[in-house]
Amino acid sequence: MRLSRFPLATAKETPADAEVVSHQLMQRAGYIRKLGSGLYTWMPIGLRVLNKVAAIVREEMNRAGAVEVLMPSIQPAELWEQSGRWAQMGGEMLRIKDRHNNDFCYGPTHEEVITHHVKQDVRSYRQLPLNLYQIQTKFRDERRPRFGVMRAREFLMKDAYSFHIDEADLAREYQVMREAYTRVFDRLGIDYRIVQADAGNIGGNRSEEFHVLAGSGEDLLAVSDSGPFAANIEAAPCVAVGARAAASAVMQQVATPGQKTCEQVARFLDTALTAKVKLLVVQTAAGELRAVALRGDHQLNEVKAAKHPMIGAGFVMAAPEKVEALFGCEVGYLGPVNSPIPVIADHAAAVIADFTCGANQTDFHLQNVNWGRDCPEPETADLRNIVEGDVSPDGVGRIKFYRGIEGGHIFQLGRKYTEAMGLSVLDEASQPVTPWMGCYGIGVSRLVAAIIEQRHDDKGIVWPASVAPFTVVICPIGMDRSDAVRETTESLYAALQGQGLDVLLDDRGQRPGAMFADAELIGIPYRIVIGDKALADGQVEFKARNLAEAERVAATAEAVRARIAAA
Ligand code: ATP
Ligand code: MG
Repeated sequence: MRLSRFPLATAKETPADAEVVSHQLMQRAGYIRKLGSGLYTWMPIGLRVLNKVAAIVREEMNRAGAVEVLMPSIQPAELWEQSGRWAQMGGEMLRIKDRHNNDFCYGPTHEEVITHHVKQDVRSYRQLPLNLYQIQTKFRDERRPRFGVMRAREFLMKDAYSFHIDEADLAREYQVMREAYTRVFDRLGIDYRIVQADAGNIGGNRSEEFHVLAGSGEDLLAVSDSGPFAANIEAAPCVAVGARAAASAVMQQVATPGQKTCEQVARFLDTALTAKVKLLVVQTAAGELRAVALRGDHQLNEVKAAKHPMIGAGFVMAAPEKVEALFGCEVGYLGPVNSPIPVIADHAAAVIADFTCGANQTDFHLQNVNWGRDCPEPETADLRNIVEGDVSPDGVGRIKFYRGIEGGHIFQLGRKYTEAMGLSVLDEASQPVTPWMGCYGIGVSRLVAAIIEQRHDDKGIVWPASVAPFTVVICPIGMDRSDAVRETTESLYAALQGQGLDVLLDDRGQRPGAMFADAELIGIPYRIVIGDKALADGQVEFKARNLAEAERVAATAEAVRARIAAA
């Protein structure tokens, strides 16, 4: 590609709304342009990278035996009514009507559509297993679109759906997909972790996420410092440790004027935060209030709470006015003694003896409170977020936190959709059976940004050769003045292209500094500078983007090729 004919718009300034480095660099290097909130155009240079990431994903899916399809992005509401999700999906789903007033959505995902098609065409166990995938545009009306294409509203996803005669065959295919994803992430040249993920409300099924490690990641990962355990904190179980000690002191009320938070109370009373029990009040989807007791230093895990039978999906934190009306005190002074509503205690709160908690009276707390003596033994459950330093749930090592960007998600769905949509096939005994289903997503466009989060320096992006928009850039110096420079440039350009390399020729006639700055900003892995001085020795200058020093190589395509191969 000749840069004189390629629209590249780089900028020195960092755009004001770009909070993370990938968004800043993608804007500055001219990879993307914003059209509206969460809507981005992929400019020619960016599209080359997006297509290369998609090509790697496609190659590995094909290699793993999955078969490509392409479904519409607009989907009829009836399918979502069959699965029950038309009512369940909240504001993330963009709903639209056609001219006949029929309901549609812009697909946020395609379980319903694919199950519908498989139902039409697959009748017999002989047609299974089947794994169909597409690389296609999704729309999700995200509450907080941000970080450019990392959390966009319209984005490119690879989504695959597999169908199986039984659970064992689903488990087999899940492993095949896990290995295919591993190859994709390896080829992208990024540092990633496979972590256990929340399986949602479908229950009990296996689900793992592929996370790109990055400080800007929105997800917290709990990883054992010396064992194999790794989970998204949403999904990391907290094991109950130790037994409760016997009560040793009499409960007493103490004045704590103005001391509302656990930290304030612990400081004021000079007690440990870990000896404090705090009470949160949640409101179930049915409008009932429930109290959750947590140790003073712990946080509620909303995913776990939503799975607890007494709380359930769709709960919210109760409004302070409601809580204050019910307890008769300010929110900072709640406790389980004489609680007007049922208390569910996290395991770690349930094992504390002689604890401090609110007195259900403004400006007062209770000390030396004991479950079963001063208040009823609570219902107990795992309701908190794991914290750094906790013993790993598998008993091996201690938990350390990392931040991650979710790049992929693999999931054993079970029979939720096949059952709801009435898909059945005949088994070997000609009996109808409901197939098992898996689904597997990769955020193709998000991964472009995630790679940059890991691979950049103060000059710009540092692409791995596998997805770089161009593998090598040729920067001729004084092409208009020197026949030797012009001839070598043209012949090297043609020869390298002829060898199948993606070559960019910077023929804009710019000064070396400007050419180099652009090449570094857009992240081309290799640079060849052609100038009279080196040419006098039959050489050109070669520099790898990730190395500080340039070196000289013979001015032939073979020599350049060999140098790239050795890098
Ligand atoms: P997140 O928790 O980040 O919202 P998700 O769990 O909703 O992700 P999935 O439904 O599993 O995501 O979608 C598959 C993949 O699509 C994700 O692993 C992620 O890489 C990508 N993805 C999801 N939402 C977005 C988005 N708003 N912008 C870009 N990519 C996205
Ligand atoms: Mg999401």
